[in-house]
Amino acid sequence: KSGFISIIGRPNVGKSTFLNRVIGQKIAIMSDKPQTTRNKVQGVLTQDDSQMIFIDTPGIHKPKHKLGEFMLKVSKNTLREVDVILFMVNAEQKIGKGDEFILELLAGNQTPVFLVINKIDQVHPDELITIIESYKDKYPFSEIVPISALQGNNVENLLTKLEEYL
Ligand code: GDP
Ligand code: MG
Repeated sequence: KSGFISIIGRPNVGKSTFLNRVIGQKIAIMSDKPQTTRNKVQGVLTQDDSQMIFIDTPGIHKPKHKLGEFMLKVSKNTLREVDVILFMVNAEQKIGKGDEFILELLAGNQTPVFLVINKIDQVHPDELITIIESYKDKYPFSEIVPISALQGNNVENLLTKLEEYL
């Protein structure tokens, strides 16, 4: 099995931390260098019977200028072509305008979207339930997976679920 995966979410939710943990190299940080290619491969995870190719989709935020509008359009097209979208949020933060903008952008997309709630090491289980509730009705998520990218909690489970969608 092999497939393309895009991780989207507001700044600082932990996208790079997750990638670095999964790929086991500092590839996500390297991708901060200027790139000419629009849809950049951030990293590849090769396991016994699967290969996951993580694709960067920059510009998933409200555009402020023409270039921003163009990037958003490119990113939207990319999101249609990947096999799974990981929409990552921070368990410490309430759903915000940035999250809602992304969810509006995804509306009508046929690609499965996982809600990945990161930084669960920072919240009480009761708070986690509240945050799941606040997101659940905003989008028909295929899966809801709480993780800690920093500490590694439940990351293996997320990868197992991802495999099922490749
Ligand atoms: P990005 O902007 O979405 O790529 O976010 P980063 O991966 O750069 O992470 C932003 C900050 O959140 C960094 O200081 C990370 O160490 C921290 N962070 C990421 N994941 C976790 C997590 O699971 N738990 C905690 N406590 N901090 C995290
Ligand atoms: Mg990052």
